[in-house]
Amino acid sequence: MSISTLRQQLLAGETTPAAILERLSGEIAARDARTGAYLSHDLESAIVEASNADLSLPLGGIPIAIKDNINVLGQPCTCGSKFLAENYTSPYDATVIRKLRAAGAIPFGRMNQDEFAMGSATENSALQTTRNPHDPQRIPGGSSGGSAAAVADGTAISALGSDTGGSIRQPASHCGVVGLKPSYGRVSRYGLVAFASSLDQIGPLTQSVEDAAMILQAIAGFDPADSTCLDVPVPDYLTNLNAGVKGLKLGVPKEYFGDGIDPGVRKNVEAAIQKLAAQGAEIVEISLPHTEHAVATYYVIAPAEASSNLSRFDGIRYGRRATNPADILDLYKKSREEGFGPEVKRRIILGTYVLSSGYYDAYYGRAQKVRTLIRRDFEGAFQKVDAIVSPVAPTPARKIGAYADDPLHEYLSDIFTLSANLAGIPGISVPCGVTDFDGGQNLPTGLQILGPHLGEAKLLQIARAAE
Ligand code: GLN
Repeated sequence: MSISTLRQQLLAGETTPAAILERLSGEIAARDARTGAYLSHDLESAIVEASNADLSLPLGGIPIAIKDNINVLGQPCTCGSKFLAENYTSPYDATVIRKLRAAGAIPFGRMNQDEFAMGSATENSALQTTRNPHDPQRIPGGSSGGSAAAVADGTAISALGSDTGGSIRQPASHCGVVGLKPSYGRVSRYGLVAFASSLDQIGPLTQSVEDAAMILQAIAGFDPADSTCLDVPVPDYLTNLNAGVKGLKLGVPKEYFGDGIDPGVRKNVEAAIQKLAAQGAEIVEISLPHTEHAVATYYVIAPAEASSNLSRFDGIRYGRRATNPADILDLYKKSREEGFGPEVKRRIILGTYVLSSGYYDAYYGRAQKVRTLIRRDFEGAFQKVDAIVSPVAPTPARKIGAYADDPLHEYLSDIFTLSANLAGIPGISVPCGVTDFDGGQNLPTGLQILGPHLGEAKLLQIARAAE
């Protein structure tokens, strides 16, 4: 059930927060072995919290599943990594958790993810495999794959994820749920384990656009603990949700409909755009000319920032510590060699390379310039249109293991989602029908809607119309 349905039942006295948790826990016991979305959950402490839930609050009594890179006091926070799986317990609540609690919600469950959020399939989790509930031979997408799979499977009502280059929107699309990446600066990242600090955002994965609006309402807003979090008022995201798209201009970027898109994805996205036109939206062809450079730009900037952020995992301050080191350098080396998986090591090596003296200007410096061009493409487009509509991913969910030895293929499949992070703008994925793909049937596809910076209210309104 959606948050809004459960809220009605709670307010009518037809159920209680504890009963919702008990039922969820039953669903997890019955189905999560097949999906593998949960890394852990703590029913006992959630029930204690539920007994104090204030039902008059906007999310009063609603459990929310949390990606395992967001700190919740007293709970594990593995980031899908062996580094933190053994002996790390969060010493504090992330700001989004504090805000969710202040809105009455109960954080419940730790969701699997690609290690340190690096990946698009949740196959880079060092801890377990998560499967797409629509077809367990397939990936749920990633990196917030556990969050998306649980919401799609009915083992979670809604979830938080993080999105650095598509990690909320792409798994939402693959699992047939709604996923919102807010604007850079809209939501505090204090307590989110940093991957690439100029790109990371926290956002909701939900069953409906209304639920996404309710969660954004709770988590958005200024936080002095995150210097990138903007001190600007948070609008009411629910008031105009049903205002429709009549008279709004929607841009269709020609660069997002080229070769390489699966025909079923293209058909569903085009049909969704036609339906928005039938509701009164004006469809305009636009161009985002620097799109072809987004993958190269992202895969310089994100690893560069990751190599810096992940230097804090030294075997001393957090998590795993190698035994019997020869000296302190050996302790750093061994702890990192044992603790990090192959994709994380690849990113650290790439990032260290592009930042090293002699290469900094040629790679990192140049990527920052191209990033500016990508941002200007969007600024120009939003002079002409209210929002941009496109596919989320070039194909529906692929089979698990299909590209195990081909990281470049994975990087290329992020083409439609990376640019929003590079530009700092918000994006949402809304289910737009199913299609057959590579031997699989009825696999979900998603419509991506991108809006101008801090334009979440209108983005949600358009998403609601598409829904
Ligand atoms: N797939 C992209 C990557 O691997 C994005 C991941 C994310 O958004 N966290 O970096």
